Amino acid sequence: MLLRHTATPVTERQALTIQPAKTCQPVGALYAALGIHRCMPHSHGSQGCCSYHRSALTRHYKEPVMAATSCFTEGASVFGGQANLLEAITNIFTVYSPDIIAVHTTCLSETIGDDVHQIIGRAHEENRIPEGKWVISASTPSYVGSHVMGFASMTKAMIEAFAVTPKRRGNHVTIIPGFVDPPDMIEVKRLATLMGLKVIVAPDTSGVLDTPQTGHYDMYPSGGVTVDQLVATGSSLGTIALGPIASGPAARALDVKCKVPCTVLPLPIGVRATDEYITALRSAGGVVPEAIDYERGQLLDVITDMQQYFYGKTAALIGDPDQLVSIAQFLTDVGIRVKYAVTGTPGKKFANRIQAATGSDSIIARDASDYYYLHQLIKTEKVDMVFGNTYAKYLCRDEDIPLIRTGFPIYDRIGHQYFPIVGYRGGLRLLERILSALMDRQDRDAPEESFELVM
Ligand code: SF4
Repeated sequence: MLLRHTATPVTERQALTIQPAKTCQPVGALYAALGIHRCMPHSHGSQGCCSYHRSALTRHYKEPVMAATSCFTEGASVFGGQANLLEAITNIFTVYSPDIIAVHTTCLSETIGDDVHQIIGRAHEENRIPEGKWVISASTPSYVGSHVMGFASMTKAMIEAFAVTPKRRGNHVTIIPGFVDPPDMIEVKRLATLMGLKVIVAPDTSGVLDTPQTGHYDMYPSGGVTVDQLVATGSSLGTIALGPIASGPAARALDVKCKVPCTVLPLPIGVRATDEYITALRSAGGVVPEAIDYERGQLLDVITDMQQYFYGKTAALIGDPDQLVSIAQFLTDVGIRVKYAVTGTPGKKFANRIQAATGSDSIIARDASDYYYLHQLIKTEKVDMVFGNTYAKYLCRDEDIPLIRTGFPIYDRIGHQYFPIVGYRGGLRLLERILSALMDRQDRDAPEESFELVM
């Protein structure tokens, strides 16, 4: 298999990445743009980049993902892509009629130094942007950062473009949901609504990338945060940002622009992180109903029942930083010991966050790293399970370790598009998947005399 020749012992590398644990910034920017109602994402670069970004999202969500491209060829690569983007803006509004075009840059347009703000200004001057339509942009060079940072940049861009400082505050709360799947966005909304709060979730890909089969194609499905809602984020009582890397920059931008106070929290995966989210909703005026107490109690009951199977097991985590921190905390709470946590996203605070979440300084936690490094760690000292995306299946197969698929991208399974892992219900779903993976392994390996009906 791909990583079968991974060498031990662990080697420290500074200048070489082997199978990175991330994808490129525009993928995250495109995903965030899809969370705006009637928005056409636009990739300012070559066709190949845009095809890759679209296919990554299409394969993960099993939905057609639309995006336009500036179609750079040799000429644009040498002389700049202004003419391409100007023509693209005219064509997109004429042919596809979106309300918004959300432009993100690519390696190429960043390297040649295209000034996208200036080009959009020129498009306004040349009347290429129809009345009541918008073009926004985010800088997403892929040779730095990761898809999570691309998501953060586009989310910040939409807030900066639309949020308006109000004459009077509204009675709603803005939630920046982080780089999570549509069911997770639905779940954070559901909990807030159950507590009696009015919320704006921005961006919101529910109703866009989880749509039903209707027999006809709808380029702009019913979901997504609307422009009116984005404008109204400026009059929110407060912002709750879920995940400091993916959501922190937009929340702080809203604070700077419209003086909306923000609370930056971990992604609400597991009991403690969901408790923090519920506490923040209470501070915003929400009231915890019996239904939420009930769900929390169910999760605690399952944790108690399953403790005997989880206790003392070990895990390795690979993926996006905000998600790994919360999963590491949850696993620690249910008795699973996290040994390794590896993210491809750069960020010096990652190791500290993992240690704070788990209360352990013996975990090897590494940012800006790769699958090869994790495989070396696992070859040196094995774990009972791995949490990661589809790419982790290669090392799991080589080392014969169960994989619990989490994060982005997941190409070879379904379920992540429809079932949340955030909130108390999401915690239940995650535990059910962990337990199934462990029990399936135990059944597979059990000698005939120990193959039990009740485990
Ligand atoms: S890494 Fe750069 S060149 Fe490659 S697909 Fe992403 S934007 Fe394009």
